[in-house]
Amino acid sequence: MVLPSEPEFEQAYNELYLTLEQSTLFEKKPNLKKLLPIISIPERIIQFRVTWEDDQGIIQVNRGFRVQFNSTLGPYKGGLRFHPTVNLSILKFLGYEQIFKNALTGLSIGGGKGGSDFDPKGKSDNEIRRFCDSFMRELSRHIGGFTDVPAGDIGVGGREIGYLFGAYKRYKNTWEGVLTGKGNSWGGSLIRPEATGYGLVYYVEKMIEYAKPGDSFKDKKVAISGSGNVAQYAALKVIELGGKVVSLSDSKGAFVLADNESEGFTPDEIAQIAQIKLQHKELASLESKFKAGKFKYLAGERPWVHVGKIDVALPSATQNEVSGEEAAVLVANGVKFIAEGSNMGSTMEAIEVFEAERQKAPGSIWYAPGKAANAGGVAVSGLEMAQNSARVSWTREEVDAKLKDIMVACFETCVNTAIEYSSEKTDGLPSLVKGANIAGFIKVAQGMEDLGDFY
Ligand code: NDP
Repeated sequence: MVLPSEPEFEQAYNELYLTLEQSTLFEKKPNLKKLLPIISIPERIIQFRVTWEDDQGIIQVNRGFRVQFNSTLGPYKGGLRFHPTVNLSILKFLGYEQIFKNALTGLSIGGGKGGSDFDPKGKSDNEIRRFCDSFMRELSRHIGGFTDVPAGDIGVGGREIGYLFGAYKRYKNTWEGVLTGKGNSWGGSLIRPEATGYGLVYYVEKMIEYAKPGDSFKDKKVAISGSGNVAQYAALKVIELGGKVVSLSDSKGAFVLADNESEGFTPDEIAQIAQIKLQHKELASLESKFKAGKFKYLAGERPWVHVGKIDVALPSATQNEVSGEEAAVLVANGVKFIAEGSNMGSTMEAIEVFEAERQKAPGSIWYAPGKAANAGGVAVSGLEMAQNSARVSWTREEVDAKLKDIMVACFETCVNTAIEYSSEKTDGLPSLVKGANIAGFIKVAQGMEDLGDFY
């Protein structure tokens, strides 16, 4: 039974459950229904105390977590999130999504997630380093290259991975690929920082082509939320492919083009955003630096109802960042493709709006959930593990080509599975949320059956 005290986890569970129920999966494979309560309980959860000293020499304390959800397909794999809102419900939802996402990459990786309610904003580099060291002092007992390989997520980027990896190495006296997202000179993979954003755009490229053969990102208007790792690289790839980025945002507000017929964000503007975000500054601090009149800065707002007519929406900030009402406005403004860079970016109500519209007007709109569309990050993390094990480094071009292949295969798996298990009457665009959930679930289920975890 899922406890109602875990709203985010319950939402992720219900989304999976409902889409499986609304397909022919349990008619065709009735035995799999028994697996749902089993797969929905993590194999293990580790919770721990993290004490660290601030720059004034005062002791501080935070909660540390690692949810080791499922290790059927490989070592637990999933990021670490440092954000004041982190709690077990959020980490369980993220870990649950991660199981099926990782299965969709086709790589040998299980699912997990972890983090802390530590807030990196306003902290000095030394405070972040001391926190990471203390966090890893306990976590290092529970992870390892063949056991559990964390990566970054919100609030955990290259700097934090460096401090965490250094701490692990000191505590364990071993150099192993225990974290991904490492620096290039100490075991990292080229393209890992870019992977989630690039992969998202590669996935949407396939959606565009499938919906209308020969069509592409060229001249498409693309609304993006967030301005962190995922949003920055998604925006750069959209621009490279000839699309126009009309919005970016952060937790305090949004920049939206004042006239969405004018030139969109430039790579130089995105580089300025990357620079201030590394220092945990607000987007608003750039208002006076950008060309006068080019953008509207909307304090406290998300972009969706302010972007006007657009073709593509890429939520890339955090969970539940598109509400049912915002989804309805996007639909009314003609959005055709919605794909999540963030995990569970859309509320259940928003997904219902997108899915209902897809069925009502075949070919009009297509929604892709994060567990398929943002799988590029963990996919390149899997490639980083492979390079570490083989003691080799692939070139940018090699990694980028493999990432693209994985995203294309993931898209095709979602489409083909949705068609195979569909109970819909329409012959329009197949449901990618159903395809992703069913394909991921079947793959893990088969593994669990083979390993005797359920029978
Ligand atoms: P970053 O920390 O680099 O950036 C997060 C962005 O989202 C920032 O712009 C931040 O604003 C904004 N944000 C965070 N919390 C909130 C909130 N509660 N409300 C509004 N905006 C918020 O994280 P990532 O770019 O790595 O992650 C973004 C999303 O992508 C997350 O959902 C993550 O789980 C998902 N993801 C990330 C992957 C990766 O490889 N990094 C892989 C797959 C999914 P501010 O700067 O003001 O805090």
